[in-house]
Amino acid sequence: MSAESLNDQPFVVLQDVAKRWNGQLGVEEISLEIEEGSFVALLGPSGCGKSTTLRLLAGLELPDEGEIVIQGRDVTSSAASDRNLSMVFQSYALFPHLSVAENVVFGLKVRRVPKAERREKMERALEITGLLGFESRKPAELSGGQRQRVALARAIVAGQPLCLMDEPLSNLDAKLRNSVRKDIKKLQRDLGITVVYVTHDQTEAMSMADKVVLMKDGRIQQIGSPDDLYNRPANTFVAGFVGAPPMALIDGEMLEGFLPDSKIGLRAEHVSIVPAGSGRFTCRISECEFLGSETLIGLQHPGTTGLTLLQPGLSLLEENTSIDINFEDQHLHIFNTDGQRVNA
Ligand code: ADP
Ligand code: MG
Repeated sequence: MSAESLNDQPFVVLQDVAKRWNGQLGVEEISLEIEEGSFVALLGPSGCGKSTTLRLLAGLELPDEGEIVIQGRDVTSSAASDRNLSMVFQSYALFPHLSVAENVVFGLKVRRVPKAERREKMERALEITGLLGFESRKPAELSGGQRQRVALARAIVAGQPLCLMDEPLSNLDAKLRNSVRKDIKKLQRDLGITVVYVTHDQTEAMSMADKVVLMKDGRIQQIGSPDDLYNRPANTFVAGFVGAPPMALIDGEMLEGFLPDSKIGLRAEHVSIVPAGSGRFTCRISECEFLGSETLIGLQHPGTTGLTLLQPGLSLLEENTSIDINFEDQHLHIFNTDGQRVNA
């Protein structure tokens, strides 16, 4: 495909895609454009349709409605092998009787890539995934994390322009997950490949993706940059899903000047402690959670959920005592009765 035609249209387009099984909903009204060389995260709680969307893109499921276009080609009913993509799944799907090295280069061998090139690509992939020295082991002789890295290495060497990943780090421990996360991101940039990455972990999505697609109940809730999702959530679901802690929601009737049936969103970093009697709310301290560089202080107040105060460093306030807080109108997110964002 010429550079010109690539510039004309997004690398991947899903248009009004729907998938159902005997009437049971998988996903619906999925419309999404993916730019070439970008990192897109499909994010949402378990069962929201992330894997289904990815499998539709991969050609492992065929949609009941809609169109899928990859690199300008309508692949809606094409076989997976016809879509020029590689995949990494939650389950590693390695060949048990093949060694690490053989598993990694399997696809290259099938495609008759010369031996020297295979070796070079394999070594780079094993280096990136921290698997040098494990070449001759069989999958059964590896930990879960190592097996997942073999699957990653295999996708890397495939050299396809589009790589689909479904929760590839979920079997790794926290520390390794962090470092492999950075590796994947760097690799994606260096190789210039387009990655569609499924995760239920908002930290993972927010830290890796150029564009996050947040889903719920088989539908897209918001498509945007991590900044968009965090600072301009489209609805109360997004507000409550993105961020740690998520945005607090206050009933409109608790605040002067807002419609009683609206919901008002407020982030922990915009809440401050003020002297007793001078705050907008007097709250009860319900819990303190020390996170190292900061402490999250959970607050209880009628007509609010998730109200949290963020204090730098160690700040263990006494539980069940009262505290006055303030916040400014400019930091408030306003949602209407239907939970949709009202402010720009
Ligand atoms: P996620 O990956 O976000 O956890 P999935 O895409 O796996 O969610 O599932 C979305 C919905 O589709 C769920 O309700 C799930 O039960 C349903 N689903 C997925 N695959 C099948 C299938 N093969 N048959 C029937 N229902 C399915
Ligand atoms: Mg899934």
